[in-house]
Amino acid sequence: MSSFIGHGLAALTIGKIFESKTPLDSKFIWQGFLVLCAFAPDIDYVVNSLNLKNNDGLRITHSVGFCLILPILATLILLIIDRKNMFWGGLQAFLACTSHLLLDLLVGGRQPDPILYPFSSRLIGVTYGVLPSAASLNPFNYYFYRNSLIECGILIPIFLIILGGVGKLKLNRYVFVSLGGMFLFFFLLSLRLSR
Ligand SMILES: [Zn+2]
Repeated sequence: MSSFIGHGLAALTIGKIFESKTPLDSKFIWQGFLVLCAFAPDIDYVVNSLNLKNNDGLRITHSVGFCLILPILATLILLIIDRKNMFWGGLQAFLACTSHLLLDLLVGGRQPDPILYPFSSRLIGVTYGVLPSAASLNPFNYYFYRNSLIECGILIPIFLIILGGVGKLKLNRYVFVSLGGMFLFFFLLSLRLSR
C-alpha cells in the first residue's frame, strides 16, 4: 500500500484540478471529503468484516465497486444541497477513491486486489512496483521517514506537473526541469528498494 501522505496528496491534486467546480462553496470541507475518499479503501484495517479473511480472500475495499459508495452518496447529497455541482462532485469523489487503487497498485509486490469487483473477482497486481510501500507509522521507525520521502519525491513532481499541464500552476522551464530531475532521482531510488 501507499502511505496516507501519497493518498492525501492525490486527493488534494484532484480537488485543485476541479477547483472551479468545488461543491458546497467550501474548499476546506470539500478537500477534506476528497482526502477521506482517498483514505476510504483502507477502512478494512479497522472494520474486520471488510478485510480479506472475511471475504473469501478478496480485499473488497480495494475495488471499483467499493469506490462507488462514497461518490454515489456524495452525488445524492449534492442533488439536494448543491445540484449544479452534483456531477463534478461525484466525479471528483470517484477519482479520489480510485486514485487509492492506482497508487497501491504502483507499489507492486503485494497481495493483488480484486479491482474490478463486483463485476469480476480477478485479482490484479504488478510484480515490480515503482513506489515505496508505506512503512509502519511510528515516529522512531527510520523506514517510515525514508519511504515517505521517496514517495513524496516521486509524487509531488508528478502532481505539480499535472497541475501545470491543466493550467492551475505556472511552471517555467527551470522549475519544470528541476521537477523532472527530482522525480527521476527519487524514482531511481525507489526502484532500488527491496520489495
Ligand atoms: Zn490501500
